[in-house]
Amino acid sequence: MSSRALEQYIENMKQKHENTTYEVVKSDEQWRESLTAEEYRVLRRAGTERAFTGRYHDSKDDGVYVCAGCGNPLFDSQSKFDSGSGWPSYVEPIAANAVEEREDRSLFFVRTEVRCRRCGGHLGHVFTDGPEPTGLRYCMNSAAMSFSGRGANA
Ligand SMILES: [Zn+2]
Repeated sequence: MSSRALEQYIENMKQKHENTTYEVVKSDEQWRESLTAEEYRVLRRAGTERAFTGRYHDSKDDGVYVCAGCGNPLFDSQSKFDSGSGWPSYVEPIAANAVEEREDRSLFFVRTEVRCRRCGGHLGHVFTDGPEPTGLRYCMNSAAMSFSGRGANA
């Protein structure tokens, strides 16, 4: 390994390590106990719910979508749009640091995985075929999120 390659390797490992440090850390056992089977499958096993089966793909309610694993606010309903995909879709997260994006090579093409920045839970993927203003489509799993209506506590 050349010194340049070694430097690159160390840099990559550092980044990997940084990316795996989350504010909310639980053992696999604890996650299993605190989530429903479907939430666990999506959030902790990077599963994908079947299109049109989730509770939020069709929802137009006004409020905020939070992580089902840790309650971290993820998406505002104002950024939600009807993608026709069968999964809840958004043009942007509620805040830049709400989510974490990483390369996913689990299929034969590269996708960008979206995770909760607070607990590392898998939420879905982001694609570049979304509408204006961002051109992005955050394609999420309903099972990874809980909805909190804005009027509920007013
Ligand atoms: Zn979370």
